[in-house]
Amino acid sequence: MSSNSTEMSIDRSEDSSTDLEAVYKIVEIFHSVQGEGAHAGIPHVFIRFGKCNLQCEWCDTDFETFEEMTAATILAEVMKYPSKRIIFTGGEPMLNDLWPLHRLFKSRGYNLSCESNGTIEIPADLLDWICISPKDQMYPQVKIRQRVGDELKCVYLGQKLELYEELMSGFTHHFLQPCYMDQESVEWNGKNFALTETVVKENPPWRLSLQTHKWMGVD
Ligand code: SF4
Repeated sequence: MSSNSTEMSIDRSEDSSTDLEAVYKIVEIFHSVQGEGAHAGIPHVFIRFGKCNLQCEWCDTDFETFEEMTAATILAEVMKYPSKRIIFTGGEPMLNDLWPLHRLFKSRGYNLSCESNGTIEIPADLLDWICISPKDQMYPQVKIRQRVGDELKCVYLGQKLELYEELMSGFTHHFLQPCYMDQESVEWNGKNFALTETVVKENPPWRLSLQTHKWMGVD
């Protein structure tokens, strides 16, 4: 896209000024290939929001370091990249009112996905693709409120799959993703990879999701 057409799109008069001035806590915006789950291999622009309502032991995101950005700035940043696919991630993206971003991006033909921990219900029609990664193996007291979506992606640490029995029917794709912990040894992570592969083989329709972006050394 030429810089001229980008500027024209950003300045479209039908954008509401309230939408453009909405402020979000943003850790980073980057263009990369989705490394895991059903859309692995597809380039996306990732918008990583600050703050989360959980504190998982294996979390690899510093969601407390962020800057406040207006939707207009986010729009300009995202439009620098050729991809028309966006993933809202975090932190927990659903702590935010995403409707202003929805309106600004959908009017420009973007496809919108999210990766959420499922503790906050997602409004109908807000997103094109909902990926829920529940953390109830760590927080059995936390209620999963978003019980329908496209992709259920569970970080696997040996927990019982019965945990997800009720939740599974609300989702089209079901992934187990071995928990990778930076602070653990290669052996520890290797054993968990092997265990996850075995469990997937024995428990259709679960599929294996690997964080291939970590092998590639990219975000
Ligand atoms: S829900 Fe996700 S972002 Fe939040 S602490 Fe857990 S792994 Fe990190």
